[in-house]
Amino acid sequence: MGRPASKKTKKKTVKKEEKSKACEDILPPSSLYHSFTTQETVELRKCLLTWYDKCKRNLPWRSLANTELDLDRRAYAVWVSEIMLQQTQVATVIDYYNRWMKTWPTLDDLASASLEEVNEKWSGLGYYSRGRRLQEGAKKVVTEFGGRMPRIAEELQKLLPGVGRYTAGAIASISYGQATGVVDGNVIRVLCRLRCIGANSGSPAVADKLWDLANHLVDPERPGDFNQAMMELGATVCTPKKPRCTECPLQSQCRAYEKVEADLTSAAANLTNRNLDPKSAAGDIEECAFKLKLIQFCCPRVPSDKNTGTAFK
Ligand code: SF4
Repeated sequence: MGRPASKKTKKKTVKKEEKSKACEDILPPSSLYHSFTTQETVELRKCLLTWYDKCKRNLPWRSLANTELDLDRRAYAVWVSEIMLQQTQVATVIDYYNRWMKTWPTLDDLASASLEEVNEKWSGLGYYSRGRRLQEGAKKVVTEFGGRMPRIAEELQKLLPGVGRYTAGAIASISYGQATGVVDGNVIRVLCRLRCIGANSGSPAVADKLWDLANHLVDPERPGDFNQAMMELGATVCTPKKPRCTECPLQSQCRAYEKVEADLTSAAANLTNRNLDPKSAAGDIEECAFKLKLIQFCCPRVPSDKNTGTAFK
């Protein structure tokens, strides 16, 4: 038998229970807290796409995807960009992409290149198997499908070498307008912060939840732009270390931001009660809160592999 709880411990336990009851009253049930209502979804799409139309980076693969009328050429252009962007920064990819598309503007052109030529063009980008797989895929499309790219994400993933769930979703949404979501490292971070998901995103259950959220959120009218906007937000605003929340178009919907703000207010109130100078302490608290709390929701721990296609954009 353990020792009976002291008066002090009992008091503490009651306080803790009261606090947790208060939280339950404030917070909606877990499934709602980590999801989006229909109204929130509509609002999020609108805010994100308005921001994207105004702030998106001008990138060569985006121009090609917007101007190329031939579906196979368009899908090929997106495919090349997505493979190059896996494990490589945008700034590095741009020149490689332009040179590649100039040399092999179509699937046919790439299919008839030699492996040496492909490796030479890829030289410096690293992970050479990506280039080899891309060419294998081009050959397959030309010889087995008569030059016609598979038209939906499920088939792209099933039929093309090196094309995982992420890449298939990106090609299908950007090139064909299929309303399917994508989940890469940037999207994971944005979603985890928006809905306060602190669990390990590498676990299958959390990864499934994130894919469900991405598929639910994607705008059926502009799926390609929506997916690119989510990735763009993660790459340029909702960054891993210093998210620029004041510039974020989704700030009003962000549960992590809301939580940090609430914690800051309560910490400042505690300091005031203790007769400390809240103003001078606020800066420190703010820094701590963002470092310790907001960053908790940045957990792109999904491994970078062919299934997730985690890319650094
Ligand atoms: S408010 Fe901040 S943490 Fe939330 S999504 Fe925007 S940038 Fe990310």
